[in-house]
Amino acid sequence: MNLKEHIRGIQDFPKPGILFYDISPMLAHGEAWKTAIERLADAIRPHKPDLLVGIESRGFLVAAPLALALGIGFVMVRKHGKLPGDKIAHSYDLEYGTDTIEVQADAVEPGQRVVVLDDLLATGGTMAAAINLLRQVGADVRAAAFLVELTFLNGRDKLDVEAISLLSYD
Ligand code: IMP
Repeated sequence: MNLKEHIRGIQDFPKPGILFYDISPMLAHGEAWKTAIERLADAIRPHKPDLLVGIESRGFLVAAPLALALGIGFVMVRKHGKLPGDKIAHSYDLEYGTDTIEVQADAVEPGQRVVVLDDLLATGGTMAAAINLLRQVGADVRAAAFLVELTFLNGRDKLDVEAISLLSYD
């Protein structure tokens, strides 16, 4: 199955000049979505994660079914102010301003092997920040995995772990 048939490019979103890669058609197509999750599961399995981590919000869509497929747990990295209880936060620079992400302090046991998921790798800033945060709670980050990679932005160069992607655009 050619999964790229289920990714749609939308011009000028969220800003003029940006081509946005929309995974909604893939989510809406049961067979394509199942195939995508199975292929990602096969790519992640060799890293033997104890836990998967999803980055809010489309990362959750990828990480939750993958965790079920692999028979392991799933942890959320969320934007500031969304998680209850004790949290660890990490702030990182955006093109304009900063953003803060958080994880619950007891979400990962020190030394646990994790693979971090997001829907798409662009510049790599979001994933690099999530990896940094997870290391602060003692995670052993084994890989970062994505449905889509925009290779022309060289985001994987910002990551010091293996980057796994199912579909790439250059
Ligand atoms: P990065 O931090 O530049 O790698 O951007 C990646 C983050 O922005 C991910 O959380 C994506 O969900 C989101 N993102 C950036 N570009 C796109 C796109 O074209 N389609 C869907 N999500 C995108």
